[in-house]
Amino acid sequence: MVYKAEYIWIDGTEPTPLLRSKTKILKDGADPGIWGFDGSSTNQAEGHDSDRVLKPAFQCPDPIRGGDDILVLCEVLNVDMTPHESNTRAKCVEVAEKFKSFDSWFGLEQEYTLFKGTRPLGFPDSGGYPGPQGPYYCGVGADDIYGRPLVEDHLEACIEAGLEISGINGEVMPGQWEFQVGPLGPVEVSDHLWVARWLLHRLGEDHGISVTLDAKPVRGDWNGAGCHTNFSTKQMRESYEPIIAACEAIGKNWEEHVHQYGFGIENRLTGLHETAPWNEFSYGVSNRGASVRIPWQVEQEKKGYIEDRRPNANMDPYTVCRLITNTVCSAAS
Ligand code: ADP
Ligand code: MN
Ligand code: MN
Ligand code: MN
Repeated sequence: MVYKAEYIWIDGTEPTPLLRSKTKILKDGADPGIWGFDGSSTNQAEGHDSDRVLKPAFQCPDPIRGGDDILVLCEVLNVDMTPHESNTRAKCVEVAEKFKSFDSWFGLEQEYTLFKGTRPLGFPDSGGYPGPQGPYYCGVGADDIYGRPLVEDHLEACIEAGLEISGINGEVMPGQWEFQVGPLGPVEVSDHLWVARWLLHRLGEDHGISVTLDAKPVRGDWNGAGCHTNFSTKQMRESYEPIIAACEAIGKNWEEHVHQYGFGIENRLTGLHETAPWNEFSYGVSNRGASVRIPWQVEQEKKGYIEDRRPNANMDPYTVCRLITNTVCSAAS
């Protein structure tokens, strides 16, 4: 007998990479080894030298096909087996290894927006706009909530795949939702998030709904979509001083970080809609208008984690987790 392995990878599209996948049929007992693809069709090669290598990095049960079928998230390599320039995972692995003793944890809050055709779900087909924001966040009822069957299917699929999904909620704009992954180490949380994103796009096909991670899907007085990044080291989980030190370290490197937190960040971090302006760094307790928030329980218990509220929904978690780990752990070394 045979089983199916869906090889998933991140392409080289700019400014925001896309997910790609293709299916390999394997004999029972055979392991999914390295594979190849046409990099000239994914912005990862030129036509005259087009072969690129898929190297399995993380695998889990395929909750859509079921049975013995699996999902295989891959790294992209050149044919000489060096990481391709689009391969941000390899750089994340390096930093994670270097600072392993800090035992960094990440919890990612992935916001996203559902679309039918050219309009977000819940926006009238005839043009015009739904009622102003207010009732939609964590709402219930057909007047305010759009797309829940897809959202529930996705949650179930993530659990069946064994991903560390930790919750879901309706968001501030109609058709906008969030799921959370973690806490896990920098590489693990990123692997899980990329597979969870793939499952969301894939299940959207079955529902006739498309998913966008665009950071500002509707211009004007409508919420953007972020990926708040919650972070702690072992020291931060034990005492308060390392929490402040982490905020200070991130503040010193604010600019290097913000330019790698996802395309179009200036359109989302405007200072409105619970964001801080992209070009002014701040941190504060309970402050959802700060770049980095220290949750109130953390200040009370004098230990815990911080939330970097700046990363966009369309951020690359390998890059964001690498930057935060490197900045905070270097400063504490
Ligand atoms: P918010 O109130 O900002 O909406 P959420 O409940 O959506 O918060 O997300 C909080 C995230 O923080 C979750 O993904 C959770 O796993 C993560 N988290 C909790 N504790 C820690 C920790 N010590 N280190 C890193 N992440 C954590
Ligand atoms: Mn949240
Ligand atoms: Mn949110
Ligand atoms: Mn948050």
